[in-house]
Amino acid sequence: MGERLRAMFCDHLSIMRGKYLPASKMKDDESRVAQALFAVHYDKDLLIDAPHTKVRTGIPDMVFGWKAEEIRAGWEPDTRVVLSDLLNADGSPLPLCPRGALKRAQAGWGRHGLTAKVGIEFEAYAFVKDADGRLVPYDNPGGVVYGTGNFTDPERFTDAIWEVAEEAGFRLELITAEYDTPQFEFTLAYDEAVKAIDEAVLFRQMAREVALDHGILLTFLPKPILGKGGSGLHINLSFADGDGRNALAAGQVGGPEHLNELGRGAVAGWMRHHKALAGLCAPTVLSYARLQPASMSGYWQNWGGDHRGVTVRVSAEGGAKARLEHRMPDASANPYTATAAVLQAARLGYEGSYPLPPLEEGDCFERTDAGTGVAGSLSEAMDDLQADGALCDAVGRELCENHIFMKRAEVEKTAGLEGEALRDFYIWYV
Ligand code: GLU
Ligand code: MG
Repeated sequence: MGERLRAMFCDHLSIMRGKYLPASKMKDDESRVAQALFAVHYDKDLLIDAPHTKVRTGIPDMVFGWKAEEIRAGWEPDTRVVLSDLLNADGSPLPLCPRGALKRAQAGWGRHGLTAKVGIEFEAYAFVKDADGRLVPYDNPGGVVYGTGNFTDPERFTDAIWEVAEEAGFRLELITAEYDTPQFEFTLAYDEAVKAIDEAVLFRQMAREVALDHGILLTFLPKPILGKGGSGLHINLSFADGDGRNALAAGQVGGPEHLNELGRGAVAGWMRHHKALAGLCAPTVLSYARLQPASMSGYWQNWGGDHRGVTVRVSAEGGAKARLEHRMPDASANPYTATAAVLQAARLGYEGSYPLPPLEEGDCFERTDAGTGVAGSLSEAMDDLQADGALCDAVGRELCENHIFMKRAEVEKTAGLEGEALRDFYIWYV
């Protein structure tokens, strides 16, 4: 086979879509798909009349376009990959485009002379099919938290992911086992926000495909096994100033007592928009099985230092390594949209000089100062998102309208499903 191009984008459901195209397309170029893709759901139901999808006006095309300079190594033979922006047929930006939302969020910080830098941590569970074809957790009874080696991964599929990541040029910082079995963590090196999320969505796809080649379904669902820990997509954030210096650094020491005005503003923005952020960062029914008190995820409206019980963790490392970690998102969210939401809420807090609530002093198991958490369900999270006009306008009005409509449809589609049936509504796609 000669060389080919796999041009992709990450859609509203966080599914990677795209086309294989001939080598002649390895330049600044584009292709087209139906805009009504934004009305397609996990269950492949007939198109529903979701806002801004043109389902009832002939199902016309939208454009996905890419840049030659962004074409990178892939992980299949003779196949290079590229990520695309979604455009209207006339070439103007499509408001529904998640990557476009992140570019707008980055531009918002650009007006302050700052560039947002992002580092992504993924958590995921491994499943296999049993003799009857049913999905069951991957069998690694000797797996332990921070486990490495073949007790943790008997099939060595994570070694294959490591090897392919290296060959394809992903900057993987670590693979380890997470708290529960068979749960794994993958951390990528930080980079400029759009570049970091481009790498993250490609890495996630590559990891799922390499695992599948080993007979393993790697799922980034927030809570695939009720009763075991959830899986998050933690976003680590810092900012570079015009000279490339870390603008969060208030000195060589980090931690909450050394937060500068930028850091205080960002954290205050996350606190005020906490409930609405969940609607974009934790957007499936299973997200609300993960986001619970005492779950070490992003339930509580609180922040602190090196404390896994809070939603926003201020790193104890300062200087060039100063950063803030937002622990609410999970990888059933579109990572562009989740990061855009996190960046926009931070900017609203900074620009609006929101007051910063006091830091969490409780253990977050038995005691917490935080009076409020996120909604208890996807349905209520959509009400919280809709009620926060400032965040919706910042992230993108049309994108949020489409999102809220599709997620309310998801609530209806999953009503009555529980346990494995609910898991299986999502698991092949997330
Ligand atoms: N698994 C936890 C979550 O759902 C996070 C555990 C950790 O890495 O601190 O976000
Ligand atoms: Mg972790």
